[in-house]
Amino acid sequence: MDNYSKHIAILGGGIAGLSLGCALLKEGIPAVIFEKMSEDTSHGAAISLSSNALRLLDRLDIYNDLKNKSFVHSKATIQGTKKSICSFNTPEVLTTRRQTLMTLLHSRFKSLGGDINFDHTLINFDAKKCEVTFSNNKKYYFKHLAACDGVRSSIRDSFFQANQNPKYSGYSAWRGIGKSVLKNIHFALGPGSHVVSYPINSDGDVSFVAVRKEDFQFKESWKELGSLSNLLQDFSTYDSSIFPELKAEEPLYKWGIYVRPPLQSMTAKNITLVGDAAHPMVPFLGQGACMAIEDAYSFAMLCKYKNGNFIDAQKIYDLIRSKRTKKIQQASLLQGKIYHMKNPMMVLARNSIMKYTNIPGNDLKKIHDYDAHQEVLNFS
Ligand SMILES: Cc1cc2nc3c(=O)[nH]c(=O)nc-3n(C[C@H](O)[C@H](O)[C@H](O)COP(=O)(O)OP(=O)(O)OC[C@H]3O[C@@H](n4cnc5c(N)ncnc54)[C@H](O)[C@@H]3O)c2cc1C
Repeated sequence: MDNYSKHIAILGGGIAGLSLGCALLKEGIPAVIFEKMSEDTSHGAAISLSSNALRLLDRLDIYNDLKNKSFVHSKATIQGTKKSICSFNTPEVLTTRRQTLMTLLHSRFKSLGGDINFDHTLINFDAKKCEVTFSNNKKYYFKHLAACDGVRSSIRDSFFQANQNPKYSGYSAWRGIGKSVLKNIHFALGPGSHVVSYPINSDGDVSFVAVRKEDFQFKESWKELGSLSNLLQDFSTYDSSIFPELKAEEPLYKWGIYVRPPLQSMTAKNITLVGDAAHPMVPFLGQGACMAIEDAYSFAMLCKYKNGNFIDAQKIYDLIRSKRTKKIQQASLLQGKIYHMKNPMMVLARNSIMKYTNIPGNDLKKIHDYDAHQEVLNFS
């Protein structure tokens, strides 16, 4: 049996797990990652990261490399199904391929001396002994388990509140990457639907996510393929030029968006939940991965400041992260309602607020200005 008895076990090598691994090793705390997938898994699609996450990636020494391979925005434009509504300046937002972020996090973790064990699916956790068993029959003891196992976390289901059955949100989403001359973040808002598009590098690759209200409950899966003709049919109220030029080798995906109620606590004996495992959220503010990075960074800092006393670290983690992430979960749901309004009077009022006030930009700024590093210092 390998000896990981002084390590924090990180379950899941997604954005949360890799960020946590980098942050812990940077603080000099031993950590090892276990990931159920194989090393060469593609992570597809794109992601936007706002300054609340970027300033932490900078502290993890990833930001500069990421910036060189991505697109940095300072402006967003909004249109109705046909006509422009407004444009506004945004605080810094970086958009990139998910794979780019994952590759950089992965190599940073390795450069800090981290171990990733792929093809390791957790099948049992004995919280009393802090012992993990994997499907390949390997068993290890750890100091602590950080569950970064995503939206369908088996650790959350086994050790936290019951009743986490996902409820269909009433929205289904499409995503894809194509070519376009678009140079900023662009929102198109139609009755009961919206399309957000942004360039992800300087080569003209543009990612889009298109969401619409739909009664049919599509699967909650990132891997369900869709066809271009179905996409155009779903969004026939828009001019088809709203989408980038789609290439055969870049697939289109369609899936259902589901909601889970917030947890009362993100921690339990010997377990800390991080990222989507702790607070799955609808994607309308583009903050899920940003929250995962904030969680990871905060927990690592607290482990350092509390000198390995996990009970004390968990108390503060729960306090600051639950408050922050619940707010973002609620704001994301509200944003979904704002994007998908159908009533013409409400749509007119929404568009006027967007056109004649700074409210949308100011609301975003409040979210993006949050500094997880400073927040932990305030509590330490
Ligand atoms: C359409 C869409 C667009 C989005 N856009 C944005 C955006 O622009 N900006 C943003 O900040 N966020 C965005 N998000 C949210 C973001 O993708 C997630 O919040 C983020 O990926 C969560 O990372 P995670 O590491 O917590 O979970 P995941 O990425 O799901 O990683 C979990 C990992 O755990 C592994 N795992 C699971 N179970 C086990 C097990 N039993 N044993 C071992 N390993 C296991 C999985 O294989 C996986 O690698 C978007 C989400 C959607 C759906």
